[in-house]
Amino acid sequence: MSKHEIAVIPGDGIGNEVVPAALDVLNTVAEVHGGISFEFTNFPWNCDYYLKHGIMMPEDGLNTLQSFEAIFLGAVGDPAKVADHISLWGLLIKIRREFEQVINIRPAKFINGIVSPLTNPNDFDLIVVRENSEGEYSEVGGRIHKGEDQIAIQNAIFTHKGTERAIRYAFELAAKRKGHVTSATKSNGIFHSMPFWDEVFKEVSLDYPEARTASYHIDALAAFFVTKPHIFDVIVASNLFGDILTDIGAAIMGSIGIAPAANINLNGKYPSMFEPVHGSAPDICGKGIANPVGQIWTAKMMLDHLGQQELGQKVLTAMEETISNGIKTPDIGGNASTKEMTEDICRRLKK
Ligand code: ATP
Ligand code: MG
Repeated sequence: MSKHEIAVIPGDGIGNEVVPAALDVLNTVAEVHGGISFEFTNFPWNCDYYLKHGIMMPEDGLNTLQSFEAIFLGAVGDPAKVADHISLWGLLIKIRREFEQVINIRPAKFINGIVSPLTNPNDFDLIVVRENSEGEYSEVGGRIHKGEDQIAIQNAIFTHKGTERAIRYAFELAAKRKGHVTSATKSNGIFHSMPFWDEVFKEVSLDYPEARTASYHIDALAAFFVTKPHIFDVIVASNLFGDILTDIGAAIMGSIGIAPAANINLNGKYPSMFEPVHGSAPDICGKGIANPVGQIWTAKMMLDHLGQQELGQKVLTAMEETISNGIKTPDIGGNASTKEMTEDICRRLKK
């Protein structure tokens, strides 16, 4: 019997609706499988907690989280009550940084039964591996001069270590999929960092002679996400390029409510964190219509990470069947509730 100890932070808004739904699915998986169990420990750290305590999580919160195998998070943010920079930096970004979650992975996949904005969505099934700790999002730079002479300088930081580990992760991931890795570059326009990125990509690729590789400039690559997403398997990109590509990925899937994500710690010192792409969605909170699929798919990614790939696949299949049978929340064109959709997925897992 393998037991997994998971820290659960439902967070704000619909996080409190979709996280319990995903936990129902995980408990159903454990029940059906028999050889695995979960121990979920709930942490009520969110904007309400902040309003009571003046802090998003207790001082020793990170210490507490560190002993868990993984963190399962809903959504953070209640902009009407707490400014985003407080809620995000006080919890989400703090965990990502302190726990060295240097890679962000986001799959995007065509699901039968969801209307994609693409007229011909083909059958795409791709994963973006985004470098999550450095690159263009750096604090190095500043401003000089005043008024009309003012100049803003923004430096991008690409370390060999940071670049290499993201690229290597992509190759490892591709080896378990179709074996194809695409590198997002812009070495025709960005003078120093992108030729460096290309060099490291080439260097790492030598360790994976069986992998097929491609390299596109980010502008062309972004266009291909829309015109022919089926050509991709695993795409590796810098922090900024990855940020943009993953949003396009969620968009071509048809709803932000179904897009999953994971923040991965590679050195094994700290837990990884699993959170869907969507936010707390205050506009639909409390109505019982939040799409639970983004959170459930995120749970599938957590299962994969815990070494339970077979169970992860079962969750994905059940989810796809539910959607293709028309049991869908309003954001993907149906009239089912969060509860109805979740129950249908659980029912299929029990079959
Ligand atoms: P954040 O800053 O936290 O990312 P946001 O306002 O940018 O928040 P979301 O909270 O993700 O973005 O919401 C964007 C829109 O998508 C909202 O109108 C919301 O209703 C819708 N939405 C988000 N998640 C879901 C979901 N799970 N099911 C249905 N609709 C959703
Ligand atoms: Mg958002």
